[in-house]
Amino acid sequence: MALCSACSSISVEVLIQDLEDPPNWWGLVNSVSKPRGMIHLQSALQLKQSCPLCAIIRASIVQYNGDEKFPRLKGSSASPQEQWDVAEFEEHLIDAPIYLRPKQDFLRRSFPEESVLSAWHLRGFTAFVPVQEDVLTGVVRLFAQPGSAAALSCDVIGRLALPSSNCPEAYTLLRRWIGTCVQNHQICRETLSRALVDETTPPVLPTRILDIWPGNSRDPRLIETHGSTGYYAALSHCWPPPHKRPIMTTLENYEDRKAGIPWATIPLAYQHAIVAAREIGLTYLWIDSLCIYSHRSSIKPRRILRFAPQFSESFHADPCTYLAS
Ligand SMILES: [Zn+2]
Ligand SMILES: [Zn+2]
Repeated sequence: MALCSACSSISVEVLIQDLEDPPNWWGLVNSVSKPRGMIHLQSALQLKQSCPLCAIIRASIVQYNGDEKFPRLKGSSASPQEQWDVAEFEEHLIDAPIYLRPKQDFLRRSFPEESVLSAWHLRGFTAFVPVQEDVLTGVVRLFAQPGSAAALSCDVIGRLALPSSNCPEAYTLLRRWIGTCVQNHQICRETLSRALVDETTPPVLPTRILDIWPGNSRDPRLIETHGSTGYYAALSHCWPPPHKRPIMTTLENYEDRKAGIPWATIPLAYQHAIVAAREIGLTYLWIDSLCIYSHRSSIKPRRILRFAPQFSESFHADPCTYLAS
């Protein structure tokens, strides 16, 4: 279905132009001093038309405002009883212009692409839709197909949401992020003491660590490293309350852990971390509750200090690997 003429006129150049004559409510909903944007429809009444982008703007109003009643502009005199259901906002549209304001990344980041200083780095736009005694806002996010002119120029830096965090595209992106950090970001290669890491030398492994590629088995196993070196990730995760402690390595199960930890007994967060670490090509993963030898006593107070070397080492290791659950 074709776009309406108003939606067809939206372009990066028009969206980012200075707004000559902003409406009197502009300052109430915009903190940026220099008004930028464009008039979309001269009359909000036309938003009811069957244009696909107009429909997205309508949906953004409902989505952005959630289940709440109409949020009111500051100074509005409407009482809560007079507020309308946002899903019915179309009934309250008025004959006044709809404005679009660009959503830019002012830091001009386009990680992991190279930043292009002259580009606009748009993430989307905010739509301001006038209704009786009020203006509703909605946010529309833009994305550019990889390799398209908009993407290559970095004028539009949004990208399509991945189908899941556990799909090949997600791991390809993760590997690119890590590669960019290692190759281009000096700050990402600094240790906590600000020394620069030598990327060519793998760090000394923690005393105990999980080998996540033990032969043909899916089950990881705990190994003693005896000062050997290698690249590894460390998992940072929230500990459950004491009555739901994660699986731990203790005196009783230590030998079993070294033989292999059955996949089915591993908590989901740990499984995800193991899969992700494998996908980015690592052999080792450090997880506190499995790699710290516990006597079931108060492990937590000492945990912080004992973690520090693991995180500082793994954080800067190449590939710099720090998995957050
Ligand atoms: Zn339209
Ligand atoms: Zn980095």
